[in-house]
Amino acid sequence: MSQTEQQARDWLAQARSICVLTGAGMSAESGIPTFRDALTGLWSRFDPMQLACEDGFRADPQLVWDWYASRREGVRAAQPNAGHLALAEFQRRHPGRLAIVTQNVDDLHQRAGSEGVIRLHGDILEDRWFGPCRRHVARAGNVCDPAWAEPGSPPRCGECGNLVRPGVVWFGEMLPVAALEAAERAARGCDLMLVVGTSGAVYPAAGLAHTARRAGARVVVLNPQASELDDVAHACLRGTAAVQLPKLLQAPPLH
Ligand code: NAD
Repeated sequence: MSQTEQQARDWLAQARSICVLTGAGMSAESGIPTFRDALTGLWSRFDPMQLACEDGFRADPQLVWDWYASRREGVRAAQPNAGHLALAEFQRRHPGRLAIVTQNVDDLHQRAGSEGVIRLHGDILEDRWFGPCRRHVARAGNVCDPAWAEPGSPPRCGECGNLVRPGVVWFGEMLPVAALEAAERAARGCDLMLVVGTSGAVYPAAGLAHTARRAGARVVVLNPQASELDDVAHACLRGTAAVQLPKLLQAPPLH
């Protein structure tokens, strides 16, 4: 074990409250491409602003829907990796001591058995209506009735023409308030923040590492590459989530 790994293990053992912030790299070894990888290959012709924002969806709903449909297939086919499982196992051994805040829209932390995962960017497997219902303004929440959804690409409301969209947070959209508040509480209240598999380029999620540091926590970045949060960290572990997390989180040997 390297000196940095041992240091991180010591901080982990001392920490009463641990907050783990995960990004796309957390699921890379489950076969789900990170954001940058996802834009290579077939989709390299498209700008993320076209695929992941309201204007892009308005301009070409089918293109965006089809891109998400293929990503949904990838998520459903994927399995949690050793990193997801190590986090869930640590939570079982230490109830209430480790909170997970994720930028990921997949459900691999949940399928690994983690409880109470704070999801900042929504759920790719969820559908929701794009706009308010245009026929039934008086309806509670002014949303279309799911019963009116007609199949298509994307499905649309047979009553008012509203479109179904994936339940993720797109560029330019607000994060879910309750999730962001819970994440900020976890960041402010932890003694150790572990930042796993994120480039640290997307705010406000990346700001949670700064929040934790300002509040006095140790910050450890785990990433095979340099990230924009390295400067905030007290230590950087260069490795992958599925290899490093089991090593870091395993129970100490019995003497
Ligand atoms: P990103 O693509 O910007 O960065 C991924 C980071 O993961 C990089 O720093 C990379 O070096 C690192 N990485 C790659 N392989 C790794 C591994 N095996 N172990 C650990 N780290 C590894 O992703 P981001 O920072 O999460 O931000 C992009 C946005 O895209 C997020 O908001 C997220 O919502 C979305 N996204 C989610 C998923 C998912 O749910 N699995 C996938 C792609 C994108």
